[in-house]
Amino acid sequence: MIRLTVPAIGDDEVDAVERVLRSGMLVHGAEGEAFEKELAAYLGCADVVTVSSGTAALHLALLALDVGPGDAVLVPDFTFPATANAVVAAGARPVFADVDPTTYNVTPATLRAAAVAFGGPGRLRAVVPVHEFGAPADMAGINALAAELGLAVVEDAACAFGTLAGDVHAGLAGDVGCFSFHPRKALTTGEGGALVAKDPGVLRRLRRLRNHGIEPSPAGLRFVEAGLNYRLTDFQSALGRVQLAKFDGYLEARAELQRAYREALALLPIAFPADAPGHAWQTFMVVLADGVDRAGVIAGLRSRGVEANLGAQCLHALDAFRELLPADCARLAGNTAERLYERGLALPLYPGLTQSDVAVVARALGETLGAAA
Ligand SMILES: *Cc1c(COP(=O)(O)O)cnc(C)c1O
Repeated sequence: MIRLTVPAIGDDEVDAVERVLRSGMLVHGAEGEAFEKELAAYLGCADVVTVSSGTAALHLALLALDVGPGDAVLVPDFTFPATANAVVAAGARPVFADVDPTTYNVTPATLRAAAVAFGGPGRLRAVVPVHEFGAPADMAGINALAAELGLAVVEDAACAFGTLAGDVHAGLAGDVGCFSFHPRKALTTGEGGALVAKDPGVLRRLRRLRNHGIEPSPAGLRFVEAGLNYRLTDFQSALGRVQLAKFDGYLEARAELQRAYREALALLPIAFPADAPGHAWQTFMVVLADGVDRAGVIAGLRSRGVEANLGAQCLHALDAFRELLPADCARLAGNTAERLYERGLALPLYPGLTQSDVAVVARALGETLGAAA
């Protein structure tokens, strides 16, 4: 079976984790600090705060910006649900914005439309653009809209480590940026995540919220606010350090594979994602034509030894949000996010995938669509 994704774990990764396990220092050790420094050097920023997941990063970002009860937050209608779950966990209310049909990202126009349609209750306080599948969101336009509307900007770059958004890394354009290191992402620590922030005060707050609300002081530990435990372990950091050293190679391999797919699939009746400069290609999702039975396509691919899946969820179509926000969800019926949710097909993409695997996927998809037509 050609898998949708396989994390790149070799002997170096195993050795690094084993070394930490044998050291007896599983948390609060030197690996964690070193990983944060190396991430900051890679991204080109002063400081990075690692956390236990991308969802933890999003939750802390909202808490550190004092987004909470009575507040509303613009999020994409097409994303992994954690983007909106974190808003709910912070006590605020998500407001869904539609996405562009080829970048799969929110745009200044779709965000403005959602802000205009939003009639409360709650006060719009923040926007959380997602760089979906590693595609850079239009951060210049989104920052301009946020400034006009008085919103904080939290970038959900969970699947966009390595993405360039304009002339900076995704995550560095807004007030706070969030990354995930889940095995489904391009760089993995098992579970894990990281945060970057413009304001040193916000960074300091993120650091202490991650660690029970503790500020170190000469007199000992001070518990200055009700924080959480969202720390990354040292063996996860050790794994991340090995992955980071190879990361540019992973990015190149992904870019090459997506180009190979475009050639191999050129004659099929599918729509391709926009080939944006700076894209990190965490996922390669094509869009099937209307009327094609996607479940049948996924089953047909599986029977030919190829794993495929839907790309991301449409939040307004999920039980969790239909129950929470029935009027909003009803209003969004039939939008682009819903179409991408129903028609999107994510194909295998990971650095160990070969050109001949791409040819196998292309033949299997051609046969399956031929059979489905
Ligand atoms: C993966 C992902 C998350 C969640 O990250 P975890 O580390 O799994 O918690 C959030 N948002 C987006 C857009 C993602 O792709």
